Order: sequence, then C-alpha cells, then structure tokens
Amino acid sequence: MDFSSKLLENAVNEMSQLPGIGKRTALRLVLHMLKQPQEQTSQLAAALEKMRNEINFCKNCHNISDLTLCEICANPGRNEKQVCVVEDIRDVMAIENTSQYRGHYHVLGGKISPMDGIGPGDLNIPSLVDKVSNGQVEELIFALSSTMEGDTTNFYIYKQIEGFNVLSTTIARGISVGDELEYADEVTLGRSILNRIPFETSLKS
Ligand SMILES: [Zn+2]
Repeated sequence: MDFSSKLLENAVNEMSQLPGIGKRTALRLVLHMLKQPQEQTSQLAAALEKMRNEINFCKNCHNISDLTLCEICANPGRNEKQVCVVEDIRDVMAIENTSQYRGHYHVLGGKISPMDGIGPGDLNIPSLVDKVSNGQVEELIFALSSTMEGDTTNFYIYKQIEGFNVLSTTIARGISVGDELEYADEVTLGRSILNRIPFETSLKS
C-alpha cells in the first residue's frame, strides 16, 4: 500500500495489528476518523489508554474488574462454593447472559496450547488448585470450549484436583465440539449449565 502521508501510514499500521483488521479495513477506519470531529478520536485514544493503564483483575476469580473484587465475587447472594472454570471474560459474559448460574467463576486467562507456547504455568491454575485444596469449593464446573486445547486444560486441572473432596462436573454439550462458548445461544448454553454431568462421564465418551 502506497501512502501519501507517513502519519496516515503509521496510524494504519498500528490499527492493522488488531486481530481481524487487515490493512484495507484499517485504512477505512482511519479515514472515517478523519471525517469525524477531532474530539471523537481523542476520546477513543483516552478511553483505550485509561483502560490499559487502570484495568484490574479480581483477586479472587481473575476476571477483569474495576475493583479488587469483581461484582460477582462481592455479591453475597452468589454461591462461592460453586466455581465455574472458564477461559476468559467473554465466557463469563456469555454464562451471565443466560441468568441460569448463581455461583462464582475462575478465569484461567487462556487454554493450554503447546502450539502457541502456552503452558499450565501461564494460566491462573495454581490459585484454583489452592481454592480446592483449602476446601473452599464444593463443585467445580468445567466450562471450557470443547476444542483439543479446552479438553487438555480440563484434564490437566482435573488431575491436579482429583485427590481432593470436590465434585467435578462439566456443562452438558448441546454445544458441538469446536464451538466457542461465547457463540452458543443463550437458551442452549443455559440448558447446558443446568444439565451438568459428572466430569468423569465426559472422559469416557
Ligand atoms: Zn471475581
């Protein structure tokens, strides 16, 4: 792409670093900004910078939160003995949208993926094992997407907590293999959460 302006080229290059944004889309977005009032771009830049600098992770569940304890963990009406293991905030949002779950979450921050160089040590697994070994958890619900990475991660965690007195379940799969949780419709996902099965059963199938 030949640019008549270095400033324009820099902006397009930065924008095209985002996932799913190619150079053409980046150019379209940048040109759109040029047509909008200048404050709009300033506000966008300020919001991004503030978010990046000030974002917090809940000290209990590792979900993204503005406070040290997220709204879910801070809510006394939720069952802290029930912990749903998910990959990231998108899964929390998807499950919350179903209004079928009143427990807590544990956000791993990813899935074990040797191909991408992500090992167990890169994820929030030790704090989960701690919670279980301290007897803080009665039921651990595995809700990672049923991809190979999701299954590997579930199994790794399951092995870590197997010896402790905790019920391990997994959400029933109305969701077909390879589907990401966030794309499942609310009714299907809600039903999967209600119809949990023992984790051991999922290993045999
Ligand atoms: Zn939390």
